[in-house]
Amino acid sequence: MKPWKTNIRRVTPYVPGEQPKGEHLIKLNTNENPYPPSPFVKKAMDEMDYGLFRKYPDPASSVLTEALCEYYQIGEDEIFVGVGSDDVIAMAFLTFFNSQKPVLFPDVTYSFYEVWAKLFQIPYITPALDEDFLIKKEDYYRENGGIIFPNPNAPTGVLMPLSEVEDIIAHNQESVVIVDEAYIDFGGVSAAGLIKKYENLLVVQTFSKSRSMAGMRIGYAMGNRDLIRALNDVKYSYNSYTMNMPSQILGAAAVKDDRYFKETLDKIITTRERAKERLSRLGFKFPDSMANFIFASHKEKSAEEIYLALKENQIFVRYFKQPRLDSYLRITIGTDEEMRQLYDFLEEFLS
Ligand SMILES: *Cc1c(COP(=O)(O)O)cnc(C)c1O
Repeated sequence: MKPWKTNIRRVTPYVPGEQPKGEHLIKLNTNENPYPPSPFVKKAMDEMDYGLFRKYPDPASSVLTEALCEYYQIGEDEIFVGVGSDDVIAMAFLTFFNSQKPVLFPDVTYSFYEVWAKLFQIPYITPALDEDFLIKKEDYYRENGGIIFPNPNAPTGVLMPLSEVEDIIAHNQESVVIVDEAYIDFGGVSAAGLIKKYENLLVVQTFSKSRSMAGMRIGYAMGNRDLIRALNDVKYSYNSYTMNMPSQILGAAAVKDDRYFKETLDKIITTRERAKERLSRLGFKFPDSMANFIFASHKEKSAEEIYLALKENQIFVRYFKQPRLDSYLRITIGTDEEMRQLYDFLEEFLS
């Protein structure tokens, strides 16, 4: 083989859920929020001066970090923002996971972790979830080069109580522990309150799900100032101007509308709890979800069959054709009307 070919970095990329195009489809496959962003975002967008785009954006994204610091009552040296939490977590892998020892994350989890570990050539071990899809915290009481897990976990939706999250952090004060809280706003208690107690804790959140702004690509990490400084050093060694100006301005506007945020969350949580009842009655089984999706398998029909039939009818859910996951569908919580159409279709299809 030509030397340049052998020198190519070969990676198997992460596969995002599809973004089908069309008018009347029901999209329950990528855990987006079914409601629009806050009206504050609309207002800020209408008032935005396009002439600003001539200049580079603020590399520190200060309008956004200030809004987040006020919201979470933390210092400006305790927050890092990035282009979606994918960007934040990728930076965190690059910054914190530099040991010869393996990084630990669950076998069933956000599949991007494995992709980053391979991309950055970080050794890793994936302790298995138990048969109920729970993380066994004792699996993380061993030598490691870092730990990351989502809470609630994805794609299962299972929430770990904060006391157990703290146990994992407390047992691993030699490593950086990253808690990926992409879904925490849908019913969990954040570990962000622990960043002053544990200097090895990094809590990552996103605007993509609970704040209805997946298209704006905004994520952030909260942690001890030494961790944040290290993240910034890596970021500024890679690309200083990661977040564009509209995302900074509109993200800050979203954070200031806490009432809308809470109302939207309440609606989704109510729809989710109703979905649990409806799906059980339709013959589905699922771990109890505290996220904006339900990971469900049917007691008779195969998940793939249901997935394809739904897709045929313009209802998109996520199906992972891989061991341990292939009898499940991950169904994002949509509006009540979208969910009604889902139940109507399933009722007929499954009978
Ligand atoms: C959606 C998701 C992310 C990434 O979200 P961004 O859109 O990049 O902010 C990260 N972790 C988990 C577990 C997710 O589900």
